[in-house]
Amino acid sequence: MTDLLARVHEVLPSVRRDLEALVRIPSVSADPARADQVQRSAEAVRDLLAAEGCETQIITAGGGPAVIAHKRSARADAPTVLLYAHHDVQPENDPAEWDTPPFEPTERGDRLYGRGAADDKAGVAAHLGALRILGDDLPVHVTVFVEGEEEVGSESLPAFLRDYAEQLSADVIVIADSGNWDIGTPALTTSLRGLVRADVEVRTLTHAVHSGMWGGLVPDALIALSRLIASLHDDAGDVAIAGLFAGPAADVDYPEERLRAESGANPGIEWIGTGSAVARLWTKPALSITGLDAPKVDGASNTLVPAARAKISLRIAPGDTTDNALARLREHCEKHVPWGAKLTFTPVDVGEATSIDATGPVYDAARAAFTEAWGGVEPIDMGVGGSIPFIAEFVDTFPNAKVLVTGVEDPDTRAHGANEGLHLGEFERVLHAEALLLRNLGQLPS
Ligand SMILES: [Zn+2]
Repeated sequence: MTDLLARVHEVLPSVRRDLEALVRIPSVSADPARADQVQRSAEAVRDLLAAEGCETQIITAGGGPAVIAHKRSARADAPTVLLYAHHDVQPENDPAEWDTPPFEPTERGDRLYGRGAADDKAGVAAHLGALRILGDDLPVHVTVFVEGEEEVGSESLPAFLRDYAEQLSADVIVIADSGNWDIGTPALTTSLRGLVRADVEVRTLTHAVHSGMWGGLVPDALIALSRLIASLHDDAGDVAIAGLFAGPAADVDYPEERLRAESGANPGIEWIGTGSAVARLWTKPALSITGLDAPKVDGASNTLVPAARAKISLRIAPGDTTDNALARLREHCEKHVPWGAKLTFTPVDVGEATSIDATGPVYDAARAAFTEAWGGVEPIDMGVGGSIPFIAEFVDTFPNAKVLVTGVEDPDTRAHGANEGLHLGEFERVLHAEALLLRNLGQLPS
């Protein structure tokens, strides 16, 4: 066993305790009633980093409280590495869906369950652990940046990165908010889809009227909206909006059994779209309806519905832009709304897609670290179907920095869902990998 791995084993129990303490704080940024918990969570993160010898501060600049911490290497000309994670979490939603209380970290089988146990308090813990493993023998200058509003869209992040650019600037940025390919197979995330969301309202009547008196002549808004929604996919299930970009597929096989098990798709459900599974998940657009306003079934009366509303969530491929996608989506809706119904199209929010050119010495150093930590298994270059729009903000604000997107998640993490859990074996490898990464980066010629 190497000295570094021995150190990993030594610090693991304390890092695990610190992670559990963080999970016990319900830092749900989407809930204004829990703003004090988000603040408590920032303070806990600050105290943990201060205990590792960092200079720390909490900054609340129009958004959730963020922690910035610095620790310098004894080597003045060492490179600077920015370690990113976020300490806010998603709402726990219905506690009845959880097997154990969401804010009481609980070990079952290979996993530690709890809201934020993975996304992304384990990212915070990985950075903390790397600092603890390396102690005062730090091979690089480290800045830790732990955001407090990622789960509500990082709205103030662009301004934050600009205002604190001097403090945050780095040669390498490690964003620990993604995951690995599978248990035992590490990954570097090199592409992420973007997101465009819009609300569409379809109105056919100024007020509701009797469906018996007027049905057959006057269209109801829900049918009109349904027809518009149906036009968004073709018969194969590909997104039918003209002018959206789709990129080439990575050469990665996603086994059918894994797709079935991980997606939770009902037996007999057919996949939609065309092309390889990873192309459909990573490099092609995808569209879903995530909300619908219409009268409830219970208590529905015999009236023609005058107006109906839907939220459209469009994932865009790396290489596309949100400006293009939003314009194409709007055009499509205007063209396909039937029967002269009045369409109101309201953009909600956007996040750009990212693709990273993962070549060169920094990425080689990262791959070597991952390969060593996973016992000889090389990392794959992974795409992510979901969006982490803030990554594009880092890439834009620090164009000269090399961005590494890492993380603790695995296919069964259930981030944002009930029974979110961290795989403890993978967590140990993540800690080891991050310490190795900092060591390798410290050995690069400056
Ligand atoms: Zn996250």
